[in-house]
Amino acid sequence: MGLAIAHQLARRGRAVQVLSRRRSEAAGFVAAGMLAPHAEGLSGDLLALGQASLERIPAWVAQIEADSGLSCGLRPCGIVVPFASAAERDVYPTAAWGEALNRAGLERELPGIGPGWDAGLLFRQDGQIDNRRQLMRALERACVELGVRFQEGVEVQELLRTGDGLQGVTVRNAEAELQTLTAGTAVLCSGAWSGALLPQLPVFPVKGQMLSLQGPREALQRVIFGPGTYLVPREDGLLVVGATSEREAGFTEGLTPFGQRQLQAGIAALLPEASQWPPMERWWGFRPCTPDEGPLLGAGPIAGLWLATGHHRNGVLLAAITAELLAEASCSEASAATQRWLQAFRWDRFNRSAAPGAG
Ligand SMILES: Cc1cc2nc3c(=O)[nH]c(=O)nc-3n(C[C@H](O)[C@H](O)[C@H](O)COP(=O)(O)OP(=O)(O)OC[C@H]3O[C@@H](n4cnc5c(N)ncnc54)[C@H](O)[C@@H]3O)c2cc1C
Repeated sequence: MGLAIAHQLARRGRAVQVLSRRRSEAAGFVAAGMLAPHAEGLSGDLLALGQASLERIPAWVAQIEADSGLSCGLRPCGIVVPFASAAERDVYPTAAWGEALNRAGLERELPGIGPGWDAGLLFRQDGQIDNRRQLMRALERACVELGVRFQEGVEVQELLRTGDGLQGVTVRNAEAELQTLTAGTAVLCSGAWSGALLPQLPVFPVKGQMLSLQGPREALQRVIFGPGTYLVPREDGLLVVGATSEREAGFTEGLTPFGQRQLQAGIAALLPEASQWPPMERWWGFRPCTPDEGPLLGAGPIAGLWLATGHHRNGVLLAAITAELLAEASCSEASAATQRWLQAFRWDRFNRSAAPGAG
């Protein structure tokens, strides 16, 4: 989110500084890169936000590629969700947006699919982007080319206020020196850690473990989004496998045998031949989740402080629209449509609906 927003602000001619504690811990480098509002079975405002972002992604990627000179690895390959029965398929929340498949259709779209699946939904409009190897680097390069300044290894420790407004931040650098930076406008996009700076934000970590296998090139054309496990085939045959969803793990780092076994079982059920493919990498990270699993977007509790956090499972998908909304809003250019989105995803919507008499 930080990179995507910095990029859009820099394109609008703003002077931007990105403060980052540790780029390698960012979920942006962890994610599978699925662009999957339909395959994920989203609903309501979150589905609409995901669809709006999906529509923007080709133009957004083209901008990043033009500004950076690097490819982002966008692959509009379609995603198949397999089910044990047609009855399960037909009650999937986004079934109306997909193409219904029977067993023969599944075998056509996913040669080698395991025997436990009798039905499926093909979402041709969903896809993937190679966030780990391409998108994040291209975004960083695009930002640098547009004059964004980076401070890596710098932790924001405190938000400084003057009256009702933001005055700046206190940061601690890698040499443990404290420094005050003045800023009247800032965007808080510290992912799963956002609550550490503003405890009233209802953001908590949901750990996810991943692994990758090297498959034959073009062995699998479409993403398979199974229950609990998904398989994302990159152009060069690398198969990205995700992901556990561990709410109780908090910020506990590291792989676990249980999590890795869960992924192996998922691979065996979805695409048995892939169990023989050589493992390449294993990693984990923390999704920034909220009580309704939707992001927190727009004005924060301090004037001048904007929020872009809580994107949970869909932050790669939602980066395009988030960057647009936040850049417009923080530059006082919000259209009526932007204001409607920001209203739907305001940070204090939980407190409001919990308040007695709230509508
Ligand atoms: C296993 C897994 C699989 C996923 N798969 C997908 C997927 O297929 N599709 C999809 O759309 N989304 C996916 N996601 C979700 C997506 O990765 C996240 O929603 C998104 O990356 C969140 O972006 P962010 O910028 O809010 O947080 P992050 O990417 O986590 O970045 C937060 C940054 O803030 C920095 N930071 C934190 N606190 C401070 C501080 N005090 N001072 C300075 N810096 C600070 C951190 O160091 C970090 O670099 C997945 C996530 C995980 C974990």
